[in-house]
Amino acid sequence: MIGGVRIARFFGFEVRLDLSWFVVFLLVLWTFAQAVFPERNPGLSTTVYIAMASAGAILFFFSVLLHELAHSAMARARGIQVEGITLFIFGGMARIRSEASNPKDEFLITVVGPLSSAAIGLILLGFARAAQALGLPGAVSGVASWLAFLNFVLAAFNLIPGFPLDGGRLFRSLVWQLTQDLRKATRWASLSGRGFGLLLVGLGVVYLFGGFLVNGMWFIFIGWFLHQAAESSYRQLILRRILEGVRAREAMTRNPETVSPDLALRDLVDEYFLRRRYNSFPVEDSTGRLLGLITLTQVKQVERDRWPTTRVNDVMTQVCDAVTVRPEDTLAVVLSKLESAGVGRALVVTDGRLEGVISRADVAQWLDRYQKLH
Ligand SMILES: [Zn+2]
Repeated sequence: MIGGVRIARFFGFEVRLDLSWFVVFLLVLWTFAQAVFPERNPGLSTTVYIAMASAGAILFFFSVLLHELAHSAMARARGIQVEGITLFIFGGMARIRSEASNPKDEFLITVVGPLSSAAIGLILLGFARAAQALGLPGAVSGVASWLAFLNFVLAAFNLIPGFPLDGGRLFRSLVWQLTQDLRKATRWASLSGRGFGLLLVGLGVVYLFGGFLVNGMWFIFIGWFLHQAAESSYRQLILRRILEGVRAREAMTRNPETVSPDLALRDLVDEYFLRRRYNSFPVEDSTGRLLGLITLTQVKQVERDRWPTTRVNDVMTQVCDAVTVRPEDTLAVVLSKLESAGVGRALVVTDGRLEGVISRADVAQWLDRYQKLH
């Protein structure tokens, strides 16, 4: 799912901001102005602190963006389609169409993120030293050295060897290379992520009892997030692999009952919708040519007293506008087509001939049966 507000394009990558990001940006701004800079650079005026905080928050935003741009650019260089970048509460995420197909690509795509953060940190550190040597105002080197520190933290945090963090991905690519088994590698990296998550929670508890309330809460929060993310990203990968291994023809409803385009809505309701368990019917003419799809929702949009005089043909979705898939498409393809069209069902078609109908419910039922059997 793509959420957030589109803000710009950088090097051909669309950048979006998740709504959570705006809250965090204000929080960062406030923390910088109220606590960080007054403590690190004492004796300056409130106006200067606000200016430093604004510059710092914007530079922090670009630091996270550059980290994600590095991942995206390397992914594109390795032939993987990148839709764009979403910046959210914990930094950012490159929206990559598919996973790397081999461990070497995964390693390269991942390693450039922390490397670029570390490089930005070094550059800012050099800049801070130069500003000091040139006698520029203390505010300038203050912002630069703080941002240098944050970039080193960004690199270090991302290197925690727990999936889905960069460190977890690097760990996964190494296990993948050694075992040639992506599923096993993901499971190990996910277990390691859950372990490190719990470790952070434990550290947080120690901090809490030591009287460091805020630090303790942050460790617990981040640790728990990592623990959950490690588990759910493993499940997503397994689900994706299952869905990529099954064809539409195996989960679809075969030879579905069809209705005529000339049928009145009154008859359609009485003879089909009220007597069958389906919420939609494909529409075919008398020669068996597929014309479209009529759904219960479309019927409900017509006033009741007009049902006897309105025909299926007047309100149905034309076949050219309906979502169609081929019997040999995988369930992953079916779901992504349904998702991007925002509808619940697709017509399964070969050479213009109707083979079946497949809905989200069909896919869910198929998965349910699969999981009961495995
Ligand atoms: Zn990263």
